[in-house]
Amino acid sequence: MQDWLEDPENRIAYEQFLEDCEEPEAPVRRRRDDTQKRQRTGSARASRTAGASRTAGTAGAARGNAERSRPPRPSAGLMVRRRSSRRRRRRRRGGIRGLLLRAAAVIAVLALLFLAVRRLGGRIRIPFLTVPGTEEAGTPQQGAEDMQETENEQDRWYGAPGIDVQLLTPNEHSRPQIPLTEVNGIVVHYTANPGSTAQANRNYFENLKDTGENDVSSHFVIGLDGEIIQCIPCDEVAYASNERNSDTISIECCHPDETGKFNDATYDSLVRLTAWLCKDRGITSKDVIRHYDVTGKDCPRYFVQNEDAWTQFRQDVQERLDALNAGTL
Ligand SMILES: [Zn+2]
Repeated sequence: MQDWLEDPENRIAYEQFLEDCEEPEAPVRRRRDDTQKRQRTGSARASRTAGASRTAGTAGAARGNAERSRPPRPSAGLMVRRRSSRRRRRRRRGGIRGLLLRAAAVIAVLALLFLAVRRLGGRIRIPFLTVPGTEEAGTPQQGAEDMQETENEQDRWYGAPGIDVQLLTPNEHSRPQIPLTEVNGIVVHYTANPGSTAQANRNYFENLKDTGENDVSSHFVIGLDGEIIQCIPCDEVAYASNERNSDTISIECCHPDETGKFNDATYDSLVRLTAWLCKDRGITSKDVIRHYDVTGKDCPRYFVQNEDAWTQFRQDVQERLDALNAGTL
């Protein structure tokens, strides 16, 4: 063995064998690197190293076929080049890693963008110009806006009486769904049907869709127990007040007898509902009228035949409206 190693070419081949045992690499890649290396080192040196490989004897036989075609390390200069070749391979691997990292960063930015747009409900924001963490600052702000809306809604219903909403089925005889675009007044009626209930009057309006015997309805009906049933949304026209249907809200009131005088429960609910509607629509008790004031019809009978009672009713509405506006109920 010692004698064999004294031959310089055998020694080079043996050292190469030892190096290969320490750093096994994929044969295909190695062959490509060697091809590049041969191109760099010139044909004369390449043929010399190939010859050395052929004389490697048992050491050369120990390697695989691909390994065998690779020349042994002939000089320090080639070793430096081989190391730089490995660095390039590492750089290539680093390049692939960098590419993957960049792709991951792009996906992360897109995900953040998506979340930001969804959270902010489409409001225009530039997330990558936003300091990290400030996105969360939008949440309390949004919450404050929501709270403000809730408070506004609570303010709107402040002092409102309880309302049983039983909207009529849309139909041409009692709920034609004509838009009510402005409200300039509230018209008070009586049912002219002593002892009838609010529910019975509402059902009569509802049944007009089948019977078609009349074209009549009302936004609200107030019953003998003070209950309030809503039949028509306040942004739709009701068939109650003739030419003032187009800009008023109508209230039908039940009454116990032929005089048409409302009982206390009905009267109290009428004052509450009328005052609240005035506040909600930004009008006053002066805008509250009788059906009589539109057509001269005897409706609501008691308020037509007792002018003082009508005047008192409007005063009661105004007092309630003032308290609503002052928040002193
Ligand atoms: Zn009427």
